[in-house]
Amino acid sequence: MGELTESGVVDAVGKELFIGGKWVPSSSGRTFAVEDPATGRVLCEVADASPEDGKAALDAAVAAQADWAKTAPRERSEILRRAYELLNSRVDELALLMTLEMGKPLAEAKGEVAYAAEFFRWFSEEAVRIDGGYQVAPNGAGRFLVTKQPVGPCLLITPWNFPMAMGGRKIGPAIAAGCTMVIKPAEQTPLSMLALAAILTEAGLPAGVLNVVTTSDPGGVMEPMIKDGRARKLSFTGSTAVGRKLLEQCADKVLRTSMELGGNAPFLVFDDADLDAAVEGAMQAKMRNIGEACTAANRFYVQRGVADEFARRLTERMSALPLGRGTEPGVVVGPLIDADAVAKVTELVADATSRGAKVLTGGATVDGPGNFYQATVLTEVPRDARMASEEIFGPVAPISVFDDEDEAVAAANDTEYGLVSYVYTNDLKRALRVSEALEAGMIGLNQGIVSNPAAPFGGVKQSGLGREGGTVGIDEFLETKYIAVSL
Ligand code: NAP
Repeated sequence: MGELTESGVVDAVGKELFIGGKWVPSSSGRTFAVEDPATGRVLCEVADASPEDGKAALDAAVAAQADWAKTAPRERSEILRRAYELLNSRVDELALLMTLEMGKPLAEAKGEVAYAAEFFRWFSEEAVRIDGGYQVAPNGAGRFLVTKQPVGPCLLITPWNFPMAMGGRKIGPAIAAGCTMVIKPAEQTPLSMLALAAILTEAGLPAGVLNVVTTSDPGGVMEPMIKDGRARKLSFTGSTAVGRKLLEQCADKVLRTSMELGGNAPFLVFDDADLDAAVEGAMQAKMRNIGEACTAANRFYVQRGVADEFARRLTERMSALPLGRGTEPGVVVGPLIDADAVAKVTELVADATSRGAKVLTGGATVDGPGNFYQATVLTEVPRDARMASEEIFGPVAPISVFDDEDEAVAAANDTEYGLVSYVYTNDLKRALRVSEALEAGMIGLNQGIVSNPAAPFGGVKQSGLGREGGTVGIDEFLETKYIAVSL
């Protein structure tokens, strides 16, 4: 591609469904619009799949499964490695495309493309390390052979907030394990996934292994596929409310599930913490992705001795963040995904202030066009404020004060979610004690970002089931088979 232009990167992407290695229009002929959340402008139209198109995509995945499962692990590994290299060679255009459809600042979009690429590198390394076993039976007479096989055709559903990385985190291990798949990206951000499908094809992925359906009717298209009986697994990333519904649907044919759901991350700062590091970590944990991350710090609990100073420094940093369209240089606070997201943040802030919270900076929307909300710090946020139990999904940092460790841990755990918790302390014993006591799948210990393709990502409680990434990530796409051997 020559010089990068906004229309150029949008024009370069396939807008049709990707089924059986071919780009095809929706059987209904319908399309839906993809908008730039910073301007409200329509970027393009993409194919709007019908339930029949969903079935065709599943047919293609089922048809490709047997041959794909037989490919040499090294062959799958090399496809993944090529995808990693292609993604990195096209960071600029893919990042611009992502910023246009999702709104995040360009620098963050580049970070996400690199992060997505890392899943392909990691799983290219895992594809050739699928292990098994040979064991003498306890009675000494028999032998146990243990081997791992691909689960089979998978259904993958991803959210809009990380339009490429959430797909990479599922597609990478599915390819490595030898599974075929149908993926449905979020309606608001289908373009990054369509671009990824083209890159994987260029990397040598055979027809039918990855099928992409874009649709404005996610329930109508996915439910028949889930209940069809031929897909063997559903891997979902999105809200807990939708995850619950999908788990019920999966019960019908007893599909295996991986569920990466919502979060409500507490961020604990103890009196003995390195305050510079805590403020830096708070900025990352809160403002990554404009606060629209499942891992976003949703509640700040700060010990009384450092609470005022922490609030002062965080306010100083938050009030200095440049706000604007993500394509503009230096912007940190891009638009939220849509008007509903702005309305939700507005409602949660109004609820907190009506219960006594004080606004230290921000606290308001920004005149359009676009869906902007100011970077905001609230203090004296009471524990019964709605934002203490609901995902804010925006650039709002609510601070509450605590006096002792037990109180902090109890407040942190007082949620149905359990994805990630952040802890800032310089006391090693406290660090380990609190890390063990927190009900979360992941802990950021003196660290504001936990995501890493080489580490097991996932939550407990209603934040989900299963792990993505790390050495266990591929297991989600493998079945263990035991062969009892009589000698
Ligand atoms: P969402 O509304 O649950 O949507 C996620 C995906 O599910 C989208 O592709 C959506 O399609 C689809 N969907 C919606 N209803 C469906 C149905 N009835 N059947 C099948 N698919 C359906 O979540 P979101 O607003 O896009 O994403 C934000 C949520 O994701 C937050 O709760 C966040 O915490 C969570 N998240 C979790 C992780 C993690 O790893 N734990 C990572 C990122 C995000 P449409 O786009 O067409 O609605």
